[in-house]
Amino acid sequence: MSKDLNITMKKSAELSEKTLENIKKYNLRPDPCNYSLWYSYFEGNPEVTKALDTLKDSINQSVCEKVYSRYLDKTVDEETYNVNVENVTDQIQEAFVDVGALISGVKDDTTEYGTSLANISESVAKADNMEDLAGVVASMVRDTQKMMDKSAKLEAELDKSSKQVSDLKQTLDVVKKENMTDALTGIANRKAFDSFLAKKLELALEEETNLTLLMIDIDYFKKFNDTHGHQVGDQVLKLVAKTLYNCVKGSDLAARYGGEEFTVVLPDTDIEGAMSVAEALRNAVENKKLLNNTTRESLGNVTISIGVSSIEKDDLPNTILERADTALYTSKENGRNQVTVAS
Ligand code: GH3
Ligand code: MG
Ligand code: MG
Repeated sequence: MSKDLNITMKKSAELSEKTLENIKKYNLRPDPCNYSLWYSYFEGNPEVTKALDTLKDSINQSVCEKVYSRYLDKTVDEETYNVNVENVTDQIQEAFVDVGALISGVKDDTTEYGTSLANISESVAKADNMEDLAGVVASMVRDTQKMMDKSAKLEAELDKSSKQVSDLKQTLDVVKKENMTDALTGIANRKAFDSFLAKKLELALEEETNLTLLMIDIDYFKKFNDTHGHQVGDQVLKLVAKTLYNCVKGSDLAARYGGEEFTVVLPDTDIEGAMSVAEALRNAVENKKLLNNTTRESLGNVTISIGVSSIEKDDLPNTILERADTALYTSKENGRNQVTVAS
């Protein structure tokens, strides 16, 4: 192991130990959120440190969850953890227990070595001939060798644990991402949409900024499926999803709401902006010439209808959604392939 890596490992082990002590001290759930919260705290993350220092007399599970979700959780809310995540959580917990046991083992070994050195120093003071002294030195060499062996073993085990924890963290990230992604189209799923809309709506109401929502539905899709088959229908869903995804900015969210329905959330966007995005999307889908992937036969094109709603005082996710849905219904009633703004 290189010297730098050695130092890094020791530092991580120290941070781990402090983190675990704090989780125990405050009787918190030993889960990845608390672990990463306190690890960030001891590592010196300025926002986390400031928040936890300010709240230091009232630390409990609920306070930690709030600080974690405010400063560290960039993707999901707590309720988005599903069985898979819990599974990974259990594995991470087990890894922590192993590292914890390793660290307390080192403490015992170091104390034992310290005692043995102290005894040796006494024996040296008492030794009055070369033979006794040689015996003391031999025992010191033995104990030192034993300690060195243990250190090497510890380094290897810490190395293994650290790799295990970082592998698990990667798995957790993948699971989290899968959890928020629609399996067919690869764009955000309903869960991701619900969470995104709730967060952005609350923020927009708080900061009195704009927010608009598009509700999108493919026209006559049942007929398309009936004519060309479900598999070709799936390809069209993918193509529409890709078109939506490519047409919106990074701060917007395009999601599959379910079936052949999609939504786009546009934070900081007024109704005119939203209408022009909606019109661009409608136009882009209408102009895609569909080809059967295998036979290369032309499948004509599909169109979409859109309903647009914008934020109102005291809005809730379902109220802004309902208005977009009503506007979408009007687009359908008026002949489809068009955009309607909620009145
Ligand atoms: P409208 O213009 O009124 O929206 O008519 P529509 O036929 O699109 O609407 P309807 O609600 O009657 O039918 C929706 C169809 O979408 C039914 C189903 O065949 C199709 N659909 C929903 N989910 C999927 C999917 O995952 N894959 C495929 N291929 N088709 C789907
Ligand atoms: Mg529909
Ligand atoms: Mg439809």
